[in-house]
Amino acid sequence: MAKQTIRDADVSGKRVLVRVDFNVPLDKQGRITDDTRIRAALPTIQYLLQHGAAVILVTHLGRPDGKVVDKLRLDPVARRLEELLGGTVIKAPDSVGPEVRQIASGLRPGQVLLLENVRFHPEEEANDAVFARQLAELADVYVDDAFGTAHRAHASTSGVAAYRPAYAGFLMEKEIDTMGRALENPERPFVALIGGAKVSTKIGVLNNLLDKVDRLLIGGAMANTFLRAQAYDTGKSLVEEDKVGLAEELLRKGDEKLLLPVDVVVASKPEAGAETKVVPVSGIPAEMLVVDIGPETIQTYADVVANAKTVVWNGPMGIFEVPEFARGTRAMAEALASSQALSIVGGGDSVAAVEQMGLADKITHVSTGGGASLEFLEGRTLPGVEVLRNAD
Ligand code: ADP
Ligand code: MG
Repeated sequence: MAKQTIRDADVSGKRVLVRVDFNVPLDKQGRITDDTRIRAALPTIQYLLQHGAAVILVTHLGRPDGKVVDKLRLDPVARRLEELLGGTVIKAPDSVGPEVRQIASGLRPGQVLLLENVRFHPEEEANDAVFARQLAELADVYVDDAFGTAHRAHASTSGVAAYRPAYAGFLMEKEIDTMGRALENPERPFVALIGGAKVSTKIGVLNNLLDKVDRLLIGGAMANTFLRAQAYDTGKSLVEEDKVGLAEELLRKGDEKLLLPVDVVVASKPEAGAETKVVPVSGIPAEMLVVDIGPETIQTYADVVANAKTVVWNGPMGIFEVPEFARGTRAMAEALASSQALSIVGGGDSVAAVEQMGLADKITHVSTGGGASLEFLEGRTLPGVEVLRNAD
């Protein structure tokens, strides 16, 4: 379902509360090590400022669990945002309360206020109605640009929308439009590439995509559980014994749609420098473990991806954190990058992999939300998306 965006909102002379995802990584000194998430929100913030709004930003940072944690204060974020915007960002001492209310009510068009870490209050994650209302009352209009937290029904992502007209920011719009288009109305062939560590965390994704795609390619440790379901020996590989039955079921349901590795890279240990070799899946040695897909599998999967018109990828093909075991993941990233298809990568580790490999900008859409993109791919309605005004 398409949602109204800030383009549909009248924001001139209004105060606009924007839920952003400024949950950036910090080093031990509390310095920001990667400001991608802050930069990603700039188009929405700048649009609102240019259209005469005062902008009030609300985000969480880390897991303070409902208490004030000084290390998780947003002052470094405010300073980085100032640099990126080239203008002053007022940093509030809290996210609600009389002092914040007073600062907010004094804002003029073009001004930016960053509220303190909203998870300092337990009411945020509890989606407390009084707290949500206090946040809402700081502004006239609510905008959600934090796709990464849209799968959580918290006060600042969901509750707040009960009290103010709610619109999608540009980042949210891109996430739900691109992924929505792929799932609801894909240009075919539609191919999904699913890997990662476990079948159990991806059951919903596998089930939902299996109904929609023309081909589903399996890699990563997840493939081992499927290989076991086909009665292959998997040696010391990571296998979810209790999910072998489920893999059998998916194999039956998927029939010819589902492709499994035909060869794999095995290693004596899941570490750099370990002895490795390429073997057919029928020849996995008892004392070794699968760490990557093999060259023949890479070739087959790359061909399928090359002929696709829509590709969704979630989950690395091997233990890509070890460079020697990253070949399959790299090859798939390259296949997506060089294809003309609408390509989508979702999932924390998969996104990290394409970014590490410097291929993110060659992919149509790299989702910013790990858990949220998984739930989206499961076909679930995200609470933070549901509350936004429908377009029509
Ligand atoms: P995402 O975050 O993209 O959804 P997952 O969290 O499901 O992906 O899986 C990523 C993890 O899977 C990585 O840490 C990677 O090392 C691991 N993995 C992939 N293939 C294997 C394998 N053959 N054996 C063990 N772990 C693997
Ligand atoms: Mg992960």
